[in-house]
Amino acid sequence: MAKIYNFSAGPAVLPPSVLKRAQAEMLDWHGTGMSVMEMSHRGKAFLSILAKTEADLRTLLNVPDHYKVLFLQGGAIAENAMIPLNLLNGKSADYVVTGSWSERSVKEAKMFGEINVVAKSQPFHYVPDFASWKLNKDAAYLHICTNETIDGVEFDALPNAGNVPIVADMSSHILSRPIDVSQYGVIYAGAQKNIGPAGLCLVIVREDLLNQAAPIVPGVFHWKAQSENQSMVNTPPTYAIYIAGLVFEWLLEQGGVEVIEQQNIAKASLLYDYIDSTDFYRNDILVRHRSRMNIPFFLKDESLNDDFLAGAEANGLLQLKGHRSVGGMRASIYNAMPFAGVQALVEFMQSFAQSHQ
Ligand SMILES: *Cc1c(COP(=O)(O)O)cnc(C)c1O
Repeated sequence: MAKIYNFSAGPAVLPPSVLKRAQAEMLDWHGTGMSVMEMSHRGKAFLSILAKTEADLRTLLNVPDHYKVLFLQGGAIAENAMIPLNLLNGKSADYVVTGSWSERSVKEAKMFGEINVVAKSQPFHYVPDFASWKLNKDAAYLHICTNETIDGVEFDALPNAGNVPIVADMSSHILSRPIDVSQYGVIYAGAQKNIGPAGLCLVIVREDLLNQAAPIVPGVFHWKAQSENQSMVNTPPTYAIYIAGLVFEWLLEQGGVEVIEQQNIAKASLLYDYIDSTDFYRNDILVRHRSRMNIPFFLKDESLNDDFLAGAEANGLLQLKGHRSVGGMRASIYNAMPFAGVQALVEFMQSFAQSHQ
């Protein structure tokens, strides 16, 4: 098999050592004689996997004791609807729109109550100045997307929302940098970007926010019910949880999120520095809000896009096409993308530019 680098925005690259370990344990997990896929979710073996997965996540993100960790299904988009259902409780909520995903969150939430867009960037190239946000003191929560996967915009700081809990969609950069969980009311993230396989959504929720659910919240999405039942109101996505657990172990072996952050800074700087050094390519995002994970870029001559993608693919650099709503190219360089992958991309971009000047 030829060496490839996978720049997909999600589902995305996983650490090879994690995949090898899953392969080795596929038919017989720790002498049980069965695959994790075949185990009862309530059996001792799987419960030990779940407990270790949660404990490792808590270590990695330093999750305080008064936060619950839920392993749910339905992805981040299901949570877009379940957040208002679990939190609104007759109040309104504030939303900040900084890209396609937070815009989608507004759309999903509007069905359930009064949603106020209190700031919006135009175009999606930056995070609006906190001072311009028209926050409501009585809002049930303030929703933000701290890394816009499609547009390539990442928050470099958190606003002061007073007593209003911040709810953050971290799908595409969770575990890429240290965060202070205590600054948030709720953190949620679909797994298929920076954690593991699709089918799992992590929700980290402050305990005191578990008593606001509407009476119509479905059981499987009822955060309090899920937290009281170890995420087992229904059968949780067992295999996805197992792989997420292997990824968390891998992250701990790397030295945790502080070490991973340094690697992510090095990878992102290599690519941005090259893009900024030539007018053959460009990235439009305000420098301080440039994402370390998702890097959209454009060729000056867009008629070369197909040639660029074909040449990249021939060099083993895959899934670089930009999202259809943005166009151009996008390199997603999550935790599991090695530095060598970004080096290979930059080398290809240099030689493509040289041969098409
Ligand atoms: C991918 C993504 C989503 C959607 O996740 P699904 O698992 O498809 O529901 C939502 N928000 C962000 C920031 C994403 O990157």
